[in-house]
Amino acid sequence: MRAVRLHGPLDLRPSEDPFPGPPANGEALVKIEAVGVCGSDLHMYETGGIGGRTVDHPFRLGHEFAGTVIAAGANACTEDGISLKPNQRVAVEPAVPCGQCENCREGNPNLCPHHQFFGVPPDDGALCEQLLVPARNCFVLPDTVSPEAGALLEPLGVALHAVDLAKLRPGNSVAIFGAGPIGLLILSVARMAGAFPLYVFDPIPERRAKALELGATAAWDVAPTDNTTLQPLLVATAGRGVDVVVEAADAGRSIDLSFTAVRPGGRAVLVGIPPHGESQFNHANPRRKGLTVRFSRRMKHTYPRAIALYAHPMMKGAIDGLVTHRFPLSETARAFDLVHHYRDGVLKAMIGLA
Ligand SMILES: [Zn+2]
Ligand SMILES: [Zn+2]
Repeated sequence: MRAVRLHGPLDLRPSEDPFPGPPANGEALVKIEAVGVCGSDLHMYETGGIGGRTVDHPFRLGHEFAGTVIAAGANACTEDGISLKPNQRVAVEPAVPCGQCENCREGNPNLCPHHQFFGVPPDDGALCEQLLVPARNCFVLPDTVSPEAGALLEPLGVALHAVDLAKLRPGNSVAIFGAGPIGLLILSVARMAGAFPLYVFDPIPERRAKALELGATAAWDVAPTDNTTLQPLLVATAGRGVDVVVEAADAGRSIDLSFTAVRPGGRAVLVGIPPHGESQFNHANPRRKGLTVRFSRRMKHTYPRAIALYAHPMMKGAIDGLVTHRFPLSETARAFDLVHHYRDGVLKAMIGLA
């Protein structure tokens, strides 16, 4: 079958992969129809690894995906108790937790140390025609959810989990650092949760414009110094800072900015992943403020809520509006190059295999 593999940094090549075999017990064979290019894919594309996992063999990316069931094995039952059948359209959650460990049993499968993950080494992802997946990872899509929207339920789940960790209450003020797809989805979900006002920081003008379009109260540039960057926020909040801050950028300088932007006693949720695995921040600032800092790890049980939210006109608009570029599988390298260079106002590039 047609596929694309990452051979090393900036080196994506077409590949002729074997078709997967028939689905085993509890599995479904899915025809892949849409795959989103994600920031974490970009980490692996740029550096050849992520979070200590390295690409040491030609590797298939792709963890935001949706498609149609071709065949279902015995007992191919979803989490919601639906028996999968051919021609059912599904989104697939990429993380496969063990289900047995302490974390899984405590209801935190996103923290399972024994999990597999489609699209992170060593587990090949969805940039190919067909993939065998556990039926439990499949979520049947209503007809109103396109394959692209189905693929976007994954980043939407990441945003939902981040907002869950923020424990937002209506009327809480929020600042978001980073207006990439994840930051923009967090903005939309926070808005749905009743957060107001909502401030966004991003150095790219198109992304700030998008944030305003999606209901940000204000969207500001990131200036060369922290003080100048935060000046408008401090003016807007009369020096108090916001109740909740979400870092959804590169986990570099934006962590310090986040801790400065939030009020004493506030909450900070860190979603961004630093390019080289390490972050530095001033310690006194969050300590003196007594901040609650949560590191966000993927998501847990968010697909049903993500599907429900897609039926809301505001969320549907926000989700559909993220896709700025579309490519066929054969042009995957071009899609990554575009996202890598932030060219042409790109937000979400989508690989279509329909
Ligand atoms: Zn992703
Ligand atoms: Zn586990």
